[in-house]
Amino acid sequence: MHEDPAPLPYDLLVVGSANADLVVGVERRPAPGETVLGSDLVVHPGGKGANQAVAAARLGARTALLARVGDDAHGRLLLDSQREAGVDTGGILVGGAPTGVALITVDPSGDNSIVVSPGANARLTPEDIRAAAPLFAAARVVSVQLEIPLATVAETARVLAPGTRLVLNPSPPAPLPDGVLAACDPLVVNEHEARSILGEAAGPAPQDWAAALLAQGPRSVVVTLGAEGALVADSRTGGHVRVPSPKVHAVDTTGAGDAFTAALAWRLGLGEPLAEATAFAVRVGAAAVTREGAQASFPTAGEVAAP
Ligand code: ATP
Repeated sequence: MHEDPAPLPYDLLVVGSANADLVVGVERRPAPGETVLGSDLVVHPGGKGANQAVAAARLGARTALLARVGDDAHGRLLLDSQREAGVDTGGILVGGAPTGVALITVDPSGDNSIVVSPGANARLTPEDIRAAAPLFAAARVVSVQLEIPLATVAETARVLAPGTRLVLNPSPPAPLPDGVLAACDPLVVNEHEARSILGEAAGPAPQDWAAALLAQGPRSVVVTLGAEGALVADSRTGGHVRVPSPKVHAVDTTGAGDAFTAALAWRLGLGEPLAEATAFAVRVGAAAVTREGAQASFPTAGEVAAP
């Protein structure tokens, strides 16, 4: 049985980063002091917050994004791509620094080298979170990642009204401020993120990581396992559940974690139990890896309809 909460304006509020991804193909990377020629520049909207918001909206979630971009062409690209996906952009703050940028070179073997200039993302402040109280009151689930200042993440966890659910993907890994882990329901991690939180204490298997992470305070943990799907552990029910991913031909896994987390957060907000919401999210993640790109690869609800 699903809960039947009174409707709020949004299914999901995403708090996070928005970047322009500037991608150039190179034969090889320049040595210090050297210049090499690359392919034509390709510019994509990206950043984990922006990706999650687009992924959720494309699935049909009523989604708002709280983020900061610069008053520049990249900021306008981000705003346009969010609007096009159906995200409410009223919470996107403009100015204070240039839009965050990821400078990405791709070599012939497909390996990326990336320099990130956080720009406006680094200026999304705890004050911005407090000033967005109406947005927080308008959603039952808030999803956040770590491409914004940790103090801002901590404030996001702090301002949540009782009953509002926090979904955290701690990426890129960083030491979490006090109180954040305990507010998560769920904490969503891949192996790398789990190991970076647990350090030496990480056991050999995903169920060990989930149990050890639960002991650090979150009410639930979801471990994503790439082609193997995900593992769910909930302190309220105990134990863990494996959720297999559909078998697909993966061409590009960029953004799969963002699509997965957005889908999970949305379905939790609709009142689905964790294992059921995760079963939906693995279908969304699997669909996203069958297409190139991040936001360009995110599916609609019709494309992940139950078999
Ligand atoms: P990324 O950093 O690439 O965005 P991630 O490391 O955070 O991803 P993954 O565990 O790789 O997260 O992927 C998230 C989800 O996407 C998985 O739980 C799974 O549902 C789906 N997925 C990823 N790779 C595959 C694959 N090769 N085949 C099927 N599903 C996949």
